[in-house]
Amino acid sequence: MNPVIALVGRPNVGKSTLFNRLTRSRDAIVADFPGLTRDRQYGNGRLGDKPFTVIDTGGISGDEQGIDAAMAEQSLLAIDEADIVLFLVDARAGLTPTDEAIAQHLRVNQKKTWLVVNKTDGLPEETATVEFHALGLGEPYPIAASHGRNVTQLIELVLEPF
Ligand code: GDP
Ligand code: MG
Repeated sequence: MNPVIALVGRPNVGKSTLFNRLTRSRDAIVADFPGLTRDRQYGNGRLGDKPFTVIDTGGISGDEQGIDAAMAEQSLLAIDEADIVLFLVDARAGLTPTDEAIAQHLRVNQKKTWLVVNKTDGLPEETATVEFHALGLGEPYPIAASHGRNVTQLIELVLEPF
């Protein structure tokens, strides 16, 4: 079984853009408005001779009530199926209450979780990531999915144990 990487986070943080880059496809629909990926979507990627599977999710809008509801069902299923969770946040939008609600769930989940700060293109890495330390999920990892910044390095890191 290939290691399975789930992409979770609010709508519009760049999950589908990262999915497309990792799977070298355009299967996931990237849009300027949230909520287009309604179901889980599966794709395969490869790093060197290491194959992996990626799951894209529609995201968690935060309009739901309560922490359980706030973790949209598809995201919960994707987390269950995954070996590795990449929790994406948006450097341009900054830290939001929904990010905090998602982080609260992920901190108690048993899955290995990486905090990934997307859209850091044009921003110094330190400035882009500093506020996300507050999420309590370790060192935030800066990337730019649409530009490819740090994406290969991130995947090398997360696949290291596999
Ligand atoms: P999703 O809802 O989390 O799947 O987000 P999408 O992948 O659909 O992306 C939402 C918007 O963010 C789109 O307009 C993307 O082009 C844009 N976006 C994604 N990654 C980046 C990035 O690294 N930098 C910038 N500046 N924009 C990005
Ligand atoms: Mg999407």
